[in-house]
Amino acid sequence: MLDSKVYKDLGLDDIRGRVEAGERLSIEDGERLLGCPSVLAVGALAHEARRRMHGDVAYYVVNQHINYSNLCVNSCRFCAFGRKQGDPLAFELTLDEILGKVKARSQDPITEVHMVGGCHPSLPLSFYEEAIQAIKALRPELRIKAFTAVEIAHFAGLEGITPRQVLLRLKAAGLDMLPGGGAEVFSPRIRGLLCPEKLSGQGWLDIARDAHELGIRTNATMLYGHIETARERLEHLDALRRLQDETRGLVCFIPLPFQPANTRVQDARPTTGVEDLKTMAVSRLMLDNVPHIKAYWVMLTVKLAQVALYFGADDFDGTVVEEKIGHMAGAESEQALTRTELERVIREGGFSPVERDCFFNEVKRG
Ligand code: SF4
Repeated sequence: MLDSKVYKDLGLDDIRGRVEAGERLSIEDGERLLGCPSVLAVGALAHEARRRMHGDVAYYVVNQHINYSNLCVNSCRFCAFGRKQGDPLAFELTLDEILGKVKARSQDPITEVHMVGGCHPSLPLSFYEEAIQAIKALRPELRIKAFTAVEIAHFAGLEGITPRQVLLRLKAAGLDMLPGGGAEVFSPRIRGLLCPEKLSGQGWLDIARDAHELGIRTNATMLYGHIETARERLEHLDALRRLQDETRGLVCFIPLPFQPANTRVQDARPTTGVEDLKTMAVSRLMLDNVPHIKAYWVMLTVKLAQVALYFGADDFDGTVVEEKIGHMAGAESEQALTRTELERVIREGGFSPVERDCFFNEVKRG
């Protein structure tokens, strides 16, 4: 039970009442929470919502990230990953090299491969179909979560077909799920300033809707802490909430703090811990219909991600193994965690670790 007096003093007792009653919060409620000086009060509300949904369970996945290439036709200002041909930091894996990465982990009990890249200027859709088929042939038990909505739109443009047709082909090849990247902040103002060449926010939502209608579930992200306003963050969350009301296809939401190193966003500073925790908490509270909220330790650091389990997060992501996107932007976290390390962090945080697959089905090991 949350202390009503604390919330009365903060002028948030009506919101406390709505959270306790399980009622939906408005964008204005979200603005008041983001503006609240007490991160603990906001966190306690989110923890209440999180405990109601997941008790003391915190999920993790044994997964492997593969970035097939960072070549990208776009030039998003907040991105330290995408490169142009000829750049000394550009890379591109062949099919054999992708498979080599999967083979190298063949003794690990991985359940998910997470594979994304830039918008490569020329690779045909058949390359991605072959990659999925070859990974599945090698390890049929693996779930493949690959290609953001931005990549799907890009493949469609290169092939001259619709995103829906791309999704159908990739699904037939064995694609299980889409990750949540490329959503950034949906606001046309932000996209116009930071990533004008990229798929629009509405385009991202339309492709996620297409995927959901085709039975492909997706995650969703928000890149925050650059030039967006609190209102724009909340409108982003509300757009996802409305999509979820329609389709029920979103599995997990991942708030990603902007990492300014090596980017071209003027005057940007890294987010602070309190801002990260408050955004996590408000995400949990606003996204009442999205089952899971991820504390992505790669971006938050392991220590803050552990604390975030008390601020609305119920998922710790996974072992990851090799991470390039966040680390090229200056992420200070490790590149990989073992299952034992993940479980220890979760357990010592006061939660019960549960291994999951990409759909959050519990993985039982004999
Ligand atoms: S964010 Fe994605 S689309 Fe934009 S430049 Fe980076 S890799 Fe390319």
